[in-house]
Amino acid sequence: MDHFEIRDGIMHVEDVSLPAIAEAVGTPVYVYSRATLERHAQVFADALAGLGSGDRAPLLAFAVKANPNLAVLNVLQRQGYGADVVSGGEMRRALAAGMAPDKIVFSGVGKTAAELGEALDADIGQFNLESEEEGVELSAIAAARGLEARCALRVNPDVDAGTHDKISTGKADNKFGVPIGKAPAIFARLSALPGLRLRGVALHIGSQLFELDPLERAFAKLGKLIAELRDSGHEITHADLGGGLGVPYKADDAPPSPAEYGEMVARATKGWDVNLVFEPGRVIAGNAGVLLTRVIRVKRGIADPFIVVDAAMNDLARPAMYGAWHDFAAVVPGGEHMRANIVGPICETGDTFAMGREIESVGPGDLAVFRTAGAYGATMASSYNSRGFVAEVLVDGARSATVADRIPADAIMGAERVPDWLD
Ligand SMILES: *Cc1c(COP(=O)(O)O)cnc(C)c1O
Repeated sequence: MDHFEIRDGIMHVEDVSLPAIAEAVGTPVYVYSRATLERHAQVFADALAGLGSGDRAPLLAFAVKANPNLAVLNVLQRQGYGADVVSGGEMRRALAAGMAPDKIVFSGVGKTAAELGEALDADIGQFNLESEEEGVELSAIAAARGLEARCALRVNPDVDAGTHDKISTGKADNKFGVPIGKAPAIFARLSALPGLRLRGVALHIGSQLFELDPLERAFAKLGKLIAELRDSGHEITHADLGGGLGVPYKADDAPPSPAEYGEMVARATKGWDVNLVFEPGRVIAGNAGVLLTRVIRVKRGIADPFIVVDAAMNDLARPAMYGAWHDFAAVVPGGEHMRANIVGPICETGDTFAMGREIESVGPGDLAVFRTAGAYGATMASSYNSRGFVAEVLVDGARSATVADRIPADAIMGAERVPDWLD
C-alpha cells in the first residue's frame, strides 16, 4: 500500500499534486511519501513484534544504502529504527539523522582502519565482521584505544537466494562473510583477541527475495552454528538476520508479506534465545518513492515510438544495471494507452527504461512517474553525461520540502580544475 494515487484526474503524493512539485522543483525529481515510509516501517515492525520484547525486542536497522537521505532516515529514526551502514559516510548520516549509536550496525567487506576507528569512537552497537583479517585489525585498533568493539561474525551460509546475480550475497563464491564451515574456528581465534567482544553471528543472503525458503534454510544453518558455538563455550547473545525481503515492482508481483516473513522467522529461530537484528532496506523504502519525470519528446521508431524522458540511467540506474522493471504511469492519465519504448537522453543504449511496454499515453511535455523508486534510486545516481545530481522531495500530508537539492552540472564542474602546468 502506498500514498501515490490519482485524485481529480491528477496523481498526488498524499495531499500534494505531482505537477505542483514539478513546478516548484523541476524534473527529474524523486518524491517520497512520509506516510508510506511510516506505514511500511510499522507493518514490518508489527510482523516481528512477537519475536521479543523489552531487552529482547528485535533491533530494526534500516539498510541506509537503500535510501540514505537525511530526512528519510529521520522519519525512520522516529519510528524506532536504527541503521545498518556500510561506510563511514553512511554512519555519519545515521548519526546526523538522530539514530542512537547503539542502534547502528556496521557491515561491509572493506571497512578501512579509519572507518573502524571512527565507528569505535562513536560507540556503535555492532560491527559485523566480514573476515578474520578485519577482526584482527579491529582488535588492534580497539585495544590501542582501550575500547571494546561489540561484534558479530558474518557468515556466508552458501545458499542461493534465487534473486538477480548482482544482488545475491550468500553463495559460497560471493565476497561477503566467512564460509559457514570455517566460522567456528575463526570465531574461536577472534574471540581470544583483546578489544573484541564477539557475541553474535550475522548473515544477509541477498536482496529482492521472492521466496522465503532460501532464507529459512540459511537461518537453519545459522541456528546450528549458534548451538555449536555455545557447545564450545562461547556466549552468543545476538543474531543478525540481514534484510532482503522483496517488493512488488509490477502490479501483479506477490513477494512474501512481512507477516509471512515474521512467521517464518519465529519458526526458524525458536529456542535461539538471542537478540535478533534485522536489516530491511527495500521493503521499507521501495514503494515509498517515485521518480517524477517529464517527456522531452516522442520520437518515431521502427515499430514502437520512443518516449524520451528527462530522467536517465544516471538518475535511476536499476534498469540499466539489473534489467529491473519500474512501472511507468502518467501523472494526468487521459484514458488512452499506447505501446512504447521509454528511454532517457543519455548516449548509451543501456539508458532504456522499457521496450515495447503498454503504457498510459503520454506526449511531449507530459509528466510521468517511475514507481517503486524509493530504494536504490537517488542513492545510485551519478552525474554521467554531465547531468548533475537529481533532487529529492519529501511529502507529509499537504506539506512538501526539498530534502536534497539538485546539484547542477556546473557545481560539479566547479570542483574540477585544469592545472596551470598544462600550458
Ligand atoms: C543491502 C543490504 C541490506 C538491505 O537489503 P534489502 O534487500 O534492501 O532489504 C541489508 N544488509 C546488508 C548487509 C546489505 O548489504
